[in-house]
Amino acid sequence: MVVGEVSTTPPEAIAPMIERAHRAYLAWREVPLHRRVEPLRRLKRLILQERHAIAELIAREQGKPYIEAMIVELFPPLDVSAFLMHEGVRLLQPRRVRSKNPFFSDRRSTYYFHPYGVWAVIAPWNYPFTIPMTQLMALTLSGNAAVLKPSPLTPLTGAKIVELFQRAGFPEELVQVVQGGAPQGAAMLDHPTVRGVIFTGSVPVGRTVAEQAARTHKKVILELGGKDPAIVLSDADLQHTAQGIAWAAMVNAGQTCASIERVYVEQPLYEPFLNALREQLAQIRMGHPMSRTVDMGPLIAPFQCERVQRHIQDACAKGGRVLVGGRVRADLGELYHEPTLVADATDDMLGMQEETFGPLVMVQSVESAEEAVRKANASAFGLTASIWTRDRRKALQLAPQLECGSVSVNSHIVAYGDSYGVWGGFKDSGVGRTHGEFGLYELVQPQYVSEVYTGKPELWWYPYSERVHRITDWLMEFLATPSLRMGGTTLRRLLPELRYLTRHFTPTKMSGGLIRYLR
Ligand code: NAD
Repeated sequence: MVVGEVSTTPPEAIAPMIERAHRAYLAWREVPLHRRVEPLRRLKRLILQERHAIAELIAREQGKPYIEAMIVELFPPLDVSAFLMHEGVRLLQPRRVRSKNPFFSDRRSTYYFHPYGVWAVIAPWNYPFTIPMTQLMALTLSGNAAVLKPSPLTPLTGAKIVELFQRAGFPEELVQVVQGGAPQGAAMLDHPTVRGVIFTGSVPVGRTVAEQAARTHKKVILELGGKDPAIVLSDADLQHTAQGIAWAAMVNAGQTCASIERVYVEQPLYEPFLNALREQLAQIRMGHPMSRTVDMGPLIAPFQCERVQRHIQDACAKGGRVLVGGRVRADLGELYHEPTLVADATDDMLGMQEETFGPLVMVQSVESAEEAVRKANASAFGLTASIWTRDRRKALQLAPQLECGSVSVNSHIVAYGDSYGVWGGFKDSGVGRTHGEFGLYELVQPQYVSEVYTGKPELWWYPYSERVHRITDWLMEFLATPSLRMGGTTLRRLLPELRYLTRHFTPTKMSGGLIRYLR
């Protein structure tokens, strides 16, 4: 069904767009932070006003149910804009550096946070609104410009995002949209004026993007694929766990980077858990995404169905048991795939190794939590993970052992929903972060400004002498092993040199610095 039409951007039109974005950036970076918030506030209002139409567009173009689009695509941008307007503005203000280094006790140092310039935002189809929208909000607040390239599978949502930015009153050309696929993405990455790229997509394309971006030394943030594990301990609340895992495995028909694809269950709870999860999955209602009583819509394209089928067939050939689902629902349409549960999964199955990115969850029994952690970590991916247990002590002992960017206990993907959380992966799942404090600081270049007005030459300037050697030697000893005793020894040693030292330092400030260094 045709939902709409857009024109592909000719690759030769991209360089002029980037140059216009750069001009917009040069003016925008001069706009004070408190004024950059104004269009962001209007953008937030626009999203709220148009939330129903935006959710409908996403449902029709991408296929997730309308209600799900409201929850997973519209909540986060509204929350992120609030985070940026309050915390973001605070975090981007110049900040005093509280150095304890006694050498620099007579001066003031400050961090300033500078934008990079024009960014390429290359986005996937699975969350076509929330991902680029939240990235663009943070980029513009921090003074950058951006050219967005949505996936060719969801161009209308991409165009809608840029339309909203323009209507909110951001400077024209500050946020622009390029429509197309790999050739357009490559043209953006080739341009030397693009100083940063946020790429969200698959691992292989992410690698190509990073290689290409390296040629012009662009800052690169990669948000890549996942193979997220859930660890179910034997004391877990069975119903709560099954309900939570069913949702986190099947939300957006499993086409979520952080969807649960592997479940490791402690042996005593294995069979009861399988029964509970089977019950949950069997209740999922499939149908047209605009229906209000549907939990799951179609997959994005035939290649997605084929991959899910390939993983199911491979699992069956290796001894897996399909407890629920397993088929394409041709009666609903060629893209509707049943939520599928494979029990007795083994480590060699494709569905336990490769990203499935569809409505398939594989479950394996393990002897202990430690074995579960070992298996969870035995993957090239490391996006998120979850632990399901009533035992807080155990959860907090296991969480730091998991090699991934965020861990939820008795829930999943919480880090994306909470605008204060940080988003990103370990290992092949990504480089750098988006969202929250750490994500915001990825988009700016910290600059350290140090001021001194005493007019005294630094101790280490020319000419070198025996005396300089002596003093630096003593100070070196003190800095490496600061203690009260060492402080006393250093002061005793420095006392005869006081006249010489005052030529370089203000003595009160220097002694204050030495005392602060002891803390
Ligand atoms: P993809 O890698 O096929 O494409 C992503 C984007 O890159 C698209 O816009 C595409 O047109 C563009 N592209 C393709 N080739 C390019 C090239 N050579 N140069 C520049 N751009 C190019 O991914 P997809 O199928 O759209 O999305 C699914 C993948 O994204 C999954 O692996 C999923 O796990 C991952 N993903 C990760 C996150 C995250 O936050 N970590 C979020 C969503 C999706």
